[in-house]
Amino acid sequence: MKQILELKNIDFSYHTADAETLALTKISFSIKEGEFIAIVGPSGCGKSTLLHIIAGLLSPENGSITFYGNLNPDHKINIGYMLQKDELLEWRSIYSNVILGLEIQHKLNTYTKANALQMLETYGLKQFANSRPSELSGGMRQRAALIRTLVLDPDILLLDEPFSALDYQTRLNVSDDIGRIIRGEKKTAILVTHDLSEAVSLADRIIILTKRPATVHQTVDIRFETPDLSPLERRNAPEFKTYFNLIWKELNHND
Ligand code: ADP
Repeated sequence: MKQILELKNIDFSYHTADAETLALTKISFSIKEGEFIAIVGPSGCGKSTLLHIIAGLLSPENGSITFYGNLNPDHKINIGYMLQKDELLEWRSIYSNVILGLEIQHKLNTYTKANALQMLETYGLKQFANSRPSELSGGMRQRAALIRTLVLDPDILLLDEPFSALDYQTRLNVSDDIGRIIRGEKKTAILVTHDLSEAVSLADRIIILTKRPATVHQTVDIRFETPDLSPLERRNAPEFKTYFNLIWKELNHND
Protein backbone atom coordinates (compact mmCIF):
# COMPACT_ATOMS: atom_id res chain seq x y z
CA MET A 1 0.00 0.00 0.00
CA LYS A 2 1.28 3.45 -0.95
CA GLN A 3 1.83 6.01 1.76
CA ILE A 4 -0.63 8.82 1.14
CA LEU A 5 0.16 11.28 3.92
CA GLU A 6 3.04 11.90 6.29
CA LEU A 7 3.25 14.48 9.07
CA LYS A 8 6.65 15.20 10.60
CA ASN A 9 7.20 17.20 13.78
CA ILE A 10 4.15 19.44 13.38
CA ASP A 11 3.87 22.34 15.85
CA PHE A 12 0.94 24.73 15.96
CA SER A 13 -0.10 27.60 18.27
CA TYR A 14 -3.17 29.84 18.29
CA HIS A 15 -2.36 33.52 18.66
CA THR A 16 -4.95 35.85 20.12
CA ALA A 17 -4.63 39.49 21.23
CA ASP A 18 -3.63 38.54 24.76
CA ALA A 19 -2.43 34.94 24.62
CA GLU A 20 -0.59 32.30 22.70
CA THR A 21 -1.97 28.75 23.04
CA LEU A 22 0.34 25.94 22.01
CA ALA A 23 -2.08 23.34 20.64
CA LEU A 24 0.17 20.77 18.93
CA THR A 25 3.80 19.87 19.42
CA LYS A 26 6.01 17.50 17.43
CA ILE A 27 3.16 15.51 15.92
CA SER A 28 4.40 12.81 13.56
CA PHE A 29 2.52 9.96 11.88
CA SER A 30 1.72 8.62 8.45
CA ILE A 31 -1.18 6.89 6.75
CA LYS A 32 -1.30 4.47 3.84
CA GLU A 33 -3.87 4.25 1.07
CA GLY A 34 -7.02 2.46 2.20
CA GLU A 35 -6.14 2.70 5.89
CA PHE A 36 -8.64 3.91 8.48
CA ILE A 37 -7.08 5.62 11.45
CA ALA A 38 -8.73 7.10 14.51
CA ILE A 39 -7.28 9.90 16.60
CA VAL A 40 -8.35 9.98 20.24
CA GLY A 41 -7.35 12.30 23.04
CA PRO A 42 -8.75 14.40 25.88
CA SER A 43 -11.25 17.10 25.01
CA GLY A 44 -9.51 20.31 23.93
CA CYS A 45 -6.16 18.60 23.26
CA GLY A 46 -5.95 19.65 19.61
CA LYS A 47 -7.67 16.92 17.56
CA SER A 48 -9.75 19.25 15.37
CA THR A 49 -6.76 21.55 14.97
CA LEU A 50 -4.81 18.61 13.58
CA LEU A 51 -7.53 17.83 11.03
CA HIS A 52 -7.62 21.50 10.01
CA ILE A 53 -3.88 21.37 9.39
CA ILE A 54 -4.18 18.21 7.28
CA ALA A 55 -7.00 19.86 5.30
CA GLY A 56 -4.82 22.92 4.68
CA LEU A 57 -7.18 25.24 6.58
CA LEU A 58 -4.38 26.06 9.04
CA SER A 59 -0.63 26.13 8.38
CA PRO A 60 1.75 24.48 10.82
CA GLU A 61 4.39 26.68 12.45
CA ASN A 62 7.02 23.98 12.15
CA GLY A 63 7.26 20.57 10.57
CA SER A 64 6.24 19.18 7.22
CA ILE A 65 3.27 17.50 5.57
CA THR A 66 3.83 15.35 2.52
CA PHE A 67 1.20 13.83 0.25
CA TYR A 68 2.28 10.80 -1.77
CA GLY A 69 5.86 11.57 -0.80
CA ASN A 70 5.80 15.16 -2.08
CA LEU A 71 5.90 18.30 0.00
CA ASN A 72 2.62 19.85 -0.99
CA PRO A 73 2.08 23.35 0.32
CA ASP A 74 -0.84 23.93 -2.04
CA HIS A 75 -2.76 20.90 -0.81
CA LYS A 76 -3.35 19.67 -4.35
CA ILE A 77 -4.64 16.45 -2.87
CA ASN A 78 -8.41 16.00 -2.85
CA ILE A 79 -9.67 16.08 0.74
CA GLY A 80 -13.19 15.26 1.90
CA TYR A 81 -14.47 16.57 5.23
CA MET A 82 -17.34 15.21 7.27
CA LEU A 83 -18.48 17.12 10.31
CA GLN A 84 -20.73 16.63 13.31
CA LYS A 85 -23.55 18.47 11.57
CA ASP A 86 -24.50 17.24 8.13
CA GLU A 87 -24.91 20.84 6.83
CA LEU A 88 -27.47 19.73 4.24
CA LEU A 89 -29.30 22.70 2.74
CA GLU A 90 -33.04 22.49 3.41
CA TRP A 91 -33.96 24.44 0.28
CA ARG A 92 -32.29 21.86 -1.94
CA SER A 93 -33.41 18.29 -2.58
CA ILE A 94 -31.20 15.40 -1.43
CA TYR A 95 -29.93 14.96 -5.00
CA SER A 96 -29.14 18.70 -5.29
CA ASN A 97 -27.35 18.55 -1.95
CA VAL A 98 -25.33 15.54 -3.04
CA ILE A 99 -24.13 17.31 -6.21
CA LEU A 100 -23.43 20.63 -4.46
CA GLY A 101 -19.65 20.08 -4.18
CA LEU A 102 -19.50 18.99 -7.83
CA GLU A 103 -21.34 22.17 -8.80
CA ILE A 104 -19.01 24.39 -6.75
CA GLN A 105 -15.92 22.70 -8.16
CA HIS A 106 -17.30 22.88 -11.73
CA LYS A 107 -17.19 19.11 -12.02
CA LEU A 108 -20.83 18.54 -12.87
CA ASN A 109 -21.12 16.51 -16.06
CA THR A 110 -23.02 13.51 -17.41
CA TYR A 111 -20.63 11.09 -15.76
CA THR A 112 -20.54 12.70 -12.30
CA LYS A 113 -24.33 13.16 -12.28
CA ALA A 114 -24.85 9.49 -13.16
CA ASN A 115 -22.33 8.51 -10.48
CA ALA A 116 -24.18 10.60 -7.86
CA LEU A 117 -27.47 8.92 -8.75
CA GLN A 118 -25.80 5.51 -8.69
CA MET A 119 -24.42 6.18 -5.21
CA LEU A 120 -27.84 7.27 -3.96
CA GLU A 121 -29.20 3.99 -5.30
CA THR A 122 -26.37 1.82 -3.92
CA TYR A 123 -26.77 3.32 -0.47
CA GLY A 124 -30.57 3.19 -0.35
CA LEU A 125 -31.42 6.84 -0.86
CA LYS A 126 -32.65 6.82 -4.45
CA GLN A 127 -36.30 7.09 -3.43
CA PHE A 128 -35.38 10.20 -1.39
CA ALA A 129 -33.51 11.92 -4.22
CA ASN A 130 -36.26 14.55 -4.55
CA SER A 131 -37.01 14.82 -0.81
CA ARG A 132 -35.92 17.68 1.43
CA PRO A 133 -33.35 16.92 4.16
CA SER A 134 -35.97 17.38 6.93
CA GLU A 135 -37.90 14.42 5.52
CA LEU A 136 -34.99 12.07 6.29
CA SER A 137 -33.85 10.50 9.57
CA GLY A 138 -30.59 11.66 11.19
CA GLY A 139 -28.83 8.53 9.94
CA MET A 140 -30.02 8.96 6.37
CA ARG A 141 -28.96 12.58 6.44
CA GLN A 142 -25.45 11.58 7.50
CA ARG A 143 -25.40 9.02 4.71
CA ALA A 144 -26.41 11.73 2.22
CA ALA A 145 -23.66 13.99 3.61
CA LEU A 146 -21.14 11.19 3.13
CA ILE A 147 -22.29 10.61 -0.46
CA ARG A 148 -21.94 14.36 -1.11
CA THR A 149 -18.29 13.98 -0.04
CA LEU A 150 -17.66 10.68 -1.86
CA VAL A 151 -18.90 11.89 -5.25
CA LEU A 152 -15.90 14.24 -5.25
CA ASP A 153 -13.68 11.14 -5.07
CA PRO A 154 -11.49 12.39 -2.20
CA ASP A 155 -8.01 10.91 -1.66
CA ILE A 156 -8.57 11.18 2.11
CA LEU A 157 -11.73 11.53 4.16
CA LEU A 158 -11.46 13.54 7.35
CA LEU A 159 -14.19 12.77 9.87
CA ASP A 160 -14.48 15.19 12.78
CA GLU A 161 -16.75 13.63 15.45
CA PRO A 162 -19.29 12.87 12.70
CA PHE A 163 -21.68 10.94 14.95
CA SER A 164 -21.60 12.95 18.16
CA ALA A 165 -24.80 14.89 17.46
CA LEU A 166 -26.79 11.64 17.31
CA ASP A 167 -28.41 9.79 20.21
CA TYR A 168 -26.67 6.60 21.38
CA GLN A 169 -28.82 4.05 19.52
CA THR A 170 -28.76 5.99 16.24
CA ARG A 171 -25.08 6.59 16.66
CA LEU A 172 -24.29 2.85 16.79
CA ASN A 173 -26.24 2.20 13.62
CA VAL A 174 -24.98 5.24 11.75
CA SER A 175 -21.33 4.59 12.59
CA ASP A 176 -21.81 0.99 11.42
CA ASP A 177 -23.44 2.23 8.23
CA ILE A 178 -20.84 4.92 7.49
CA GLY A 179 -17.96 2.57 8.40
CA ARG A 180 -19.22 -0.07 5.96
CA ILE A 181 -19.58 2.49 3.15
CA ILE A 182 -16.07 3.87 3.68
CA ARG A 183 -14.61 0.34 3.68
CA GLY A 184 -16.73 -0.62 0.66
CA GLU A 185 -15.45 2.38 -1.27
CA LYS A 186 -11.86 1.56 -0.11
CA LYS A 187 -11.34 5.12 1.11
CA THR A 188 -8.49 6.32 3.29
CA ALA A 189 -9.97 7.90 6.39
CA ILE A 190 -8.94 9.78 9.51
CA LEU A 191 -11.55 9.88 12.26
CA VAL A 192 -11.32 12.21 15.24
CA THR A 193 -13.43 11.07 18.16
CA HIS A 194 -13.60 11.15 21.93
CA ASP A 195 -15.57 7.87 21.84
CA LEU A 196 -13.13 4.98 22.32
CA SER A 197 -15.70 2.32 21.35
CA GLU A 198 -16.26 4.10 18.08
CA ALA A 199 -12.51 4.23 17.43
CA VAL A 200 -12.00 0.51 18.17
CA SER A 201 -15.03 -0.50 16.09
CA LEU A 202 -13.91 1.45 13.02
CA ALA A 203 -10.14 1.86 12.84
CA ASP A 204 -7.12 -0.16 11.68
CA ARG A 205 -4.92 1.95 13.93
CA ILE A 206 -5.56 4.32 16.81
CA ILE A 207 -3.34 7.29 17.57
CA ILE A 208 -3.59 8.40 21.20
CA LEU A 209 -2.77 12.04 21.81
CA THR A 210 -1.69 13.57 25.11
CA LYS A 211 -3.54 16.48 26.68
CA ARG A 212 -2.76 19.91 25.20
CA PRO A 213 -0.27 20.64 23.78
CA ALA A 214 -1.01 17.40 21.98
CA THR A 215 1.73 15.08 20.93
CA VAL A 216 1.48 11.41 19.95
CA HIS A 217 1.43 9.39 23.16
CA GLN A 218 1.00 5.96 21.59
CA THR A 219 -0.15 4.21 18.43
CA VAL A 220 -2.14 0.99 18.71
CA ASP A 221 -2.69 -1.37 15.77
CA ILE A 222 -6.17 -2.87 15.86
CA ARG A 223 -6.30 -6.47 14.64
CA PHE A 224 -9.28 -8.76 14.97
CA GLU A 225 -8.80 -12.49 14.47
CA THR A 226 -11.77 -12.58 12.10
CA PRO A 227 -10.98 -10.18 9.24
CA ASP A 228 -13.46 -7.80 7.64
CA LEU A 229 -15.84 -7.56 10.57
CA SER A 230 -18.38 -4.75 10.38
CA PRO A 231 -18.15 -2.09 13.11
CA LEU A 232 -21.12 -3.64 14.97
CA GLU A 233 -19.62 -7.14 14.68
CA ARG A 234 -16.34 -5.83 16.08
CA ARG A 235 -18.18 -4.59 19.15
CA ASN A 236 -19.22 -8.20 19.88
CA ALA A 237 -15.81 -9.76 19.16
CA PRO A 238 -13.63 -10.88 22.10
CA GLU A 239 -10.73 -8.52 21.23
CA PHE A 240 -12.96 -5.46 21.49
CA LYS A 241 -12.89 -5.17 25.27
CA THR A 242 -9.13 -5.76 25.42
CA TYR A 243 -8.44 -2.90 23.01
CA PHE A 244 -10.96 -0.65 24.74
CA ASN A 245 -9.34 -1.23 28.15
CA LEU A 246 -5.82 -0.78 26.77
CA ILE A 247 -6.64 2.55 25.14
CA TRP A 248 -8.68 3.72 28.13
CA LYS A 249 -5.69 3.01 30.40
CA GLU A 250 -3.25 4.80 28.11
CA LEU A 251 -5.53 7.84 27.82
CA ASN A 252 -5.91 8.09 31.57
CA HIS A 253 -2.22 7.46 32.22
CA ASN A 254 -1.18 10.45 30.21
CA ASP A 255 -3.78 12.73 31.81
P1 ADP B 1 -10.21 19.10 20.36
O1 ADP B 1 -10.67 18.94 18.96
O2 ADP B 1 -9.22 18.05 20.79
O3 ADP B 1 -11.32 19.21 21.36
P2 ADP B 1 -9.26 21.70 19.42
O4 ADP B 1 -8.34 21.34 18.32
O5 ADP B 1 -10.62 22.19 19.05
O6 ADP B 1 -9.37 20.49 20.47
O7 ADP B 1 -8.59 22.85 20.32
C1 ADP B 1 -7.29 22.69 20.90
C2 ADP B 1 -6.98 23.84 21.81
O8 ADP B 1 -6.82 25.02 21.06
C3 ADP B 1 -8.09 24.10 22.83
O9 ADP B 1 -7.50 24.30 24.08
C4 ADP B 1 -8.78 25.35 22.35
O10 ADP B 1 -9.17 26.15 23.43
C5 ADP B 1 -7.69 26.05 21.54
N1 ADP B 1 -8.29 26.72 20.38
C6 ADP B 1 -9.03 26.13 19.42
N2 ADP B 1 -9.41 27.03 18.48
C7 ADP B 1 -8.88 28.21 18.88
C8 ADP B 1 -8.90 29.55 18.34
N3 ADP B 1 -9.53 29.82 17.19
N4 ADP B 1 -8.24 30.52 19.02
C9 ADP B 1 -7.59 30.25 20.18
N5 ADP B 1 -7.52 29.01 20.74
C10 ADP B 1 -8.16 28.01 20.11
